Amino acid sequence: MMIVMKPSATDGEIQNVIDRITSTGARPHVSAGETLTVIGAIGDSEHDERVANLGLEEDPGVDRVMPIAKPYKLASRQLAQGEEASVFDIGGRKIGGNNFSLIAGPCTVESREQTLGTADYFVEKGLAVSMFRGGAYKPRTGPYSFMGLGRDGLKILQEAKDKTGYPIVTELMDLRELDAVLEVADVIQIGARNMQNYNLLTELGKAGTPVLLKRGLSATLDEFLLAAEYILKEGNEKVLLCERGIRTFETGYRFTLDLLAVPVLKERTHLPVIVDPSHAAGKRHLVEPMSLAAAAAGADGIIVEVHPHPEEAVCDGPQALRLSEFDQYVDKVAQAALLAGKTISVG
Ligand code: PEP
Ligand code: MN
Repeated sequence: MMIVMKPSATDGEIQNVIDRITSTGARPHVSAGETLTVIGAIGDSEHDERVANLGLEEDPGVDRVMPIAKPYKLASRQLAQGEEASVFDIGGRKIGGNNFSLIAGPCTVESREQTLGTADYFVEKGLAVSMFRGGAYKPRTGPYSFMGLGRDGLKILQEAKDKTGYPIVTELMDLRELDAVLEVADVIQIGARNMQNYNLLTELGKAGTPVLLKRGLSATLDEFLLAAEYILKEGNEKVLLCERGIRTFETGYRFTLDLLAVPVLKERTHLPVIVDPSHAAGKRHLVEPMSLAAAAAGADGIIVEVHPHPEEAVCDGPQALRLSEFDQYVDKVAQAALLAGKTISVG
């Protein structure tokens, strides 16, 4: 249920509503805007019934009480204050709203030279890159493939962060590595294959570090939002949703990039929506057109793979953009983002 307070509601009246919601076992979630306070009563259908029976509409300071139509409550745009999009600050970069996040880097951390070389290059060329990506733990389809450098990779990422100041986006696959990843990550990536790993999501909700949650290979948008809800439910409000291509019958490319997910997710949620054109395309020459389309469609950012020598990459080389061509790519993406009224946030 959602309780919309009157603009004139006092702190005492708001607190009274919070206390009454708490008495039902539902969890109050307060969204205080400049003029209006909205209080969500979060729980299951039994909680909803108990909250409805409170007759909160009669309370002083309450304007109206309405059900939250969606099964994902905290993620729903309806609950967001004034139905506005959320804007987060991560390491001095703004995410969401009129801000566009360009997250770039190699698929995986292979060596100091490759990782620092890439991050340094962005700085030297003055490229509008918002955050640096790179996996130290890699989910691979086959068990004999390179699995990432693990903790050694995290150390290299830390060095890149210290040297360049870029916030780091890196994947966590296993809760046993949570503390190590938390030390370096500004954003923890949850890969497509782990979108429904609910224990992982719950622990990340408790950890509080921002999460970039990738859409599962065959997840509907509502399943995707319910996965985000697991993180939000634990009090972590900073969840970035990432469309990275879904599995369809088409074999012409790695996955089908579902760009309709961008406007539709934005109708349903206040959370920022990022697009990963690299893993969907699987081929370098397809990455730029999909990036431009995503930016023009109103995505809040792109996470893209780039490598100094894609031919030598241990992982995902065929889809990696060439570092030497990356400046032109950044310029074009910035223009496409501008069509949707967004500028790249570089802190
Ligand atoms: C990645 O970003 O390197 C990755 C493995 O992504 P996904 O989980 O979307 O396949
Ligand atoms: Mn990759």
